[in-house]
Amino acid sequence: MTKSGDPTRCDVVVIGGGLQGLSSAYHLAKRGLSVTLLEAEYCGRHASGVNAGGVRSLGRHVAEIPISLMALDDYWHRMPDVVGHDCGFVGSGQLQLAENEAEMQVAAERVALLNSLGFHHEEVIDAAYVRKLVPSISPHVHGGIWAKRDGYALPFQTVVAFKHSASQLGAHIQEQSPVLKVESHGADWVVHTATQEFRCGHIVNTAGAWANGFARQLGEETPAETNGLMLMVTQRVAPFVRPTLGALGRPLSFKQFDNGTVVIGGSLMCEADEVARCADANAAALYKSAQTVTDLFPHLTHVAINRVWAGVEAFMPDSIPVISPSSTVQGVTHAFGFSAHGFQLSPAIGRLVSELVCDGRASLDLRAFSITRFQESGDHSS
Ligand SMILES: Cc1cc2nc3c(=O)[nH]c(=O)nc-3n(C[C@H](O)[C@H](O)[C@H](O)COP(=O)(O)OP(=O)(O)OC[C@H]3O[C@@H](n4cnc5c(N)ncnc54)[C@H](O)[C@@H]3O)c2cc1C
Repeated sequence: MTKSGDPTRCDVVVIGGGLQGLSSAYHLAKRGLSVTLLEAEYCGRHASGVNAGGVRSLGRHVAEIPISLMALDDYWHRMPDVVGHDCGFVGSGQLQLAENEAEMQVAAERVALLNSLGFHHEEVIDAAYVRKLVPSISPHVHGGIWAKRDGYALPFQTVVAFKHSASQLGAHIQEQSPVLKVESHGADWVVHTATQEFRCGHIVNTAGAWANGFARQLGEETPAETNGLMLMVTQRVAPFVRPTLGALGRPLSFKQFDNGTVVIGGSLMCEADEVARCADANAAALYKSAQTVTDLFPHLTHVAINRVWAGVEAFMPDSIPVISPSSTVQGVTHAFGFSAHGFQLSPAIGRLVSELVCDGRASLDLRAFSITRFQESGDHSS
């Protein structure tokens, strides 16, 4: 319940109960605002509940690094203090493999660039160090980039932890409540579901793959694209890899959990149906990714895949999200378009959203994430 006791009258309505919405509700409630979060289905039903759980600062777009490091240092390594639960976070490190000399060169240039900008969370390591970290790796690997404070967490536990913490702070979280439209009434906003109207001073649009529809209602549609993203999980195998692995030269994200199962993904796209709100896994694309894994770990050739699934995600043409006040109206803040890497950022995104709402400005420079950047360039292509 909101502090006024009436969830239909509040300071902020958050649209969407994925992690960006739940984190926003948590941080806004922590700042003392009355918050109602409206979720169309159930919290974590889409990308936030079904993702690979990669907690990766490694390989980020330079503009995203400060947010990613805020998420890592202030939240992921301190989750029990933040939400009373570790969210399954394991600081296993993340390693991006270089499979030839040309990729080693790319690694060296990337880390030199980051160092020149004052970032030291990624380091180049040689083949011997890679083998020390992952003794069973194929002998053809030349080295890689190592981010030792990265790791992985459990998406659904993270969703539940943020949902409970936001509720405990007074946020009203209402599921099975799709928002149909938003309307301004003087200085207020009215948010309509099929059966209720919510009056508030501010709207936070964190509707994931459906958020661009609300931007469209406000006259600031972006070139966001909706796609499906696939994952697969193997049967249990004896422990053979601790860090989460990616590759510089091909799409791969790969981790072994403590129970022995291995989750394999890495930008494996499939078609999504925005209206039906689902995506179907594509076996041919999954086969290609399984092949990458057996190239790197030949001993996995006969390991069975137990399950495949796909989630729906919003992708921006420049692969970085919109985290921005509306450019057309007062009292709306957007955070969407996380382009397959928003899980790691989510604890910090809510904080930045709460700063935009409460203070009118954020503690990090968010200019690169402005919703106006597509209008300015005039480039709406992907
Ligand atoms: C398969 C997969 C693997 C991934 N792996 C990783 C990873 O390893 N690491 C990483 O950092 N990121 C990863 N991601 C990306 C990450 O999951 C997303 O970027 C992040 O979860 C986006 O969160 P969100 O809250 O914006 O969106 P969502 O989780 O999609 O939440 C949006 C919510 O809004 C609700 N909604 C929509 N319309 C309405 C409406 N009209 N009214 C009310 N509610 C509405 C939806 O039902 C949904 O619950 C992965 C994504 C996928 C799909």
